[in-house]
Amino acid sequence: MQGLTMDMPLLTSMIVKHAAVWHGDVEIVTHRVEGDMHRYTYADAYKRTCRLANALKRLGIQPGDRVGTMAWTTYRHLELYYAIGGSGAVIHTINPRLFHDQIEYIINHAKDRVMFLDTTWVEMMEGMQDKCPTIEKFIILCDSGKMPETTLRNAVCFEDLLAAEDDSFDWPEFDEKTAVALCYTSGTTGNPKGVLYTHRGMVLHAIAGTSSDHPLCISSRTVLLPAVSMFHVHGWMAPYAAPISGTKLVLPGPNMHGDNICRLLEEEKVTVTAGVPTIWIDVLQHLKKTGGRLDTLEICNIGGSAPSIAMIKTFEEEYDVHVVHAWGMTELSAAGTTGRLRKRHQDLPAAERYKVQQTQGRPLFGFEMKIVDLDGTPLPHDGEAVGQLYVRGPWVASAYFEDDAATDAAFDADGWFGTGDMASVSSDGLIRVSDRSKDLIKSGGEWISSIDLENYALAHPDVMEAAAIAVKHPKWEERPLLVIVPREGAEITADAVRAVLADHVAKWWLPDDIVFVEEIPHTATGKISKKDLRDRFAEYDWPEIADTGD
Ligand code: AMP
Repeated sequence: MQGLTMDMPLLTSMIVKHAAVWHGDVEIVTHRVEGDMHRYTYADAYKRTCRLANALKRLGIQPGDRVGTMAWTTYRHLELYYAIGGSGAVIHTINPRLFHDQIEYIINHAKDRVMFLDTTWVEMMEGMQDKCPTIEKFIILCDSGKMPETTLRNAVCFEDLLAAEDDSFDWPEFDEKTAVALCYTSGTTGNPKGVLYTHRGMVLHAIAGTSSDHPLCISSRTVLLPAVSMFHVHGWMAPYAAPISGTKLVLPGPNMHGDNICRLLEEEKVTVTAGVPTIWIDVLQHLKKTGGRLDTLEICNIGGSAPSIAMIKTFEEEYDVHVVHAWGMTELSAAGTTGRLRKRHQDLPAAERYKVQQTQGRPLFGFEMKIVDLDGTPLPHDGEAVGQLYVRGPWVASAYFEDDAATDAAFDADGWFGTGDMASVSSDGLIRVSDRSKDLIKSGGEWISSIDLENYALAHPDVMEAAAIAVKHPKWEERPLLVIVPREGAEITADAVRAVLADHVAKWWLPDDIVFVEEIPHTATGKISKKDLRDRFAEYDWPEIADTGD
């Protein structure tokens, strides 16, 4: 027997329409790429989103077409999220920090027809456009009359495009399983893998994002500063969840350095913020240097990597800011766990509580999680057994976009997604991500492939063996240390190896130090033992604080 509730598809256009009508006066504040502050309301955002949807139609964008964005966390990017997805096309948020060949790969793989980009990346795209033939038009996110000189083909000014359009739009209704967004993850070597989200999954996850136990911790009384790139897992869902609850948004644009974040937190009276530990290292350093305070901030949601106990303690004891830790992935739409404390953990003595806060917490409703051994046998929740973490749920990727090999490697026979993370679960129901099953290096929230670094180092004729490992770093959480066994009798220098690497990798990928050793440890099967190397260099003293040029 079928129930008798209305059969309305869950579409992201519902969110922006709801915000315009019921939270129309709530502000969205942006620190613009241009450097100034921009303020408007959800009602204003809605009108511009309608204009943009009309413009997409005029540009000939059809349902299902992929539209690329290369943009910071700004009001314009927010409008793009809703106009592209809401009109039935697919927003492809491109991470501009990827290597050029990876960016080319994902644009071509996605077959982006149009690209909207901030002025920051105009020059970069000029150099790459010939290798991205699917892009018919580039729309530059700039004010009228402020178009940069550019050779980008069919370049148009965003504000001119909007000015010509009507500010109402008839949002189409379609199947809620229609694709809304595409995001590539480049966690491993090989080509980046596309995660193609449905409207249904996005709306459900956004609703989950407004629950009081979600790590975003938002409501209609919140002022939220997502110190998160909107090209990384939908800005952790903030752009989709905040309009549902009528949360004031403070968007930091391109400047996510400690001084600017602190300024915005104070001036906009922010109550909740979110970001990777690197951002908070910078913020805490800035506060220490300036004697600044965090008077209005109540909650700092930290994810992407685990925060240190020292960071949790400093926020709590010196600034009276509660840290909520969360773990998530591109494939999970955003957060998978929440570190919101249960009553029994809330009442623990501070030192004990910090340990609980350092775990990744518990699964959010909507996720089923299991830890299994190599044979796929579920492991007990005893806090000791460490296994591969598998997940399933209505907003977890069910496959990678047009990539059967990657799909086959990541999903088990029952359709669960293998996260690639190793985790234990305590008897108290706390998940602890103990290691990545792969040996990636996570610097400032972005991945560096150890294998790529090794392969390029091996291009130097005097390098016999090379291993890149992650070593803890005071600013970037982790940085690559390259360990090299030179060829016998060779006189090789670190600068010479760096010069070879610089030909292939981005500046922020370059190892902060290179050490030469006589021998690298190997496992029983003859592979380099990264674990042993990491143990050996665990207390390594970096020669200087790295400047990744970020
Ligand atoms: P991405 O898809 O780029 O967001 O990367 C997801 C990966 O980041 C996860 O599989 C984890 O390895 C890592 N990660 C995310 N959040 C955390 C966290 N809170 N603690 C430890 N690792 C994390």
